[in-house]
Amino acid sequence: MKIAKEFKWEMGHRLPFHKGKCKNIHGHTYKIMIEFEGDLNENGMVMDYYDVKDVVGPIIDELDHSFMVKSDDADIIDFLEKINSKHTIVEFQTTAENICRYFLKKISEADLPKNITGIKAKVFETENTYAEDSLQL
Ligand SMILES: [Zn+2]
Repeated sequence: MKIAKEFKWEMGHRLPFHKGKCKNIHGHTYKIMIEFEGDLNENGMVMDYYDVKDVVGPIIDELDHSFMVKSDDADIIDFLEKINSKHTIVEFQTTAENICRYFLKKISEADLPKNITGIKAKVFETENTYAEDSLQL
């Protein structure tokens, strides 16, 4: 059985390698659909939606209204630090695909109920585009 919950956050980024507009500093209203799979617990739940929020909420809070920047994008990091602006330094290009994996890794490291056997994440960078990946636990 699966359950899912949707979260949204605002975040800036850029893709320095991109040949088009995405090399520029810009932002998105990101949306993520997180799915948990597992047998039902004694209360007839895969996972309590409150517990889903406890696991995913802090990851969202960390990214909301921040700028996600790759660790080698030194000029941008210097600028963000100079103006004391919220940012998250990561080791990957900030594509929707990599953000999807970022969430899966963080969620899999959380203290999940024992009945959970799989996680799926679907990251929407725009209304029309998404990246999806899953992880078996
Ligand atoms: Zn973008």
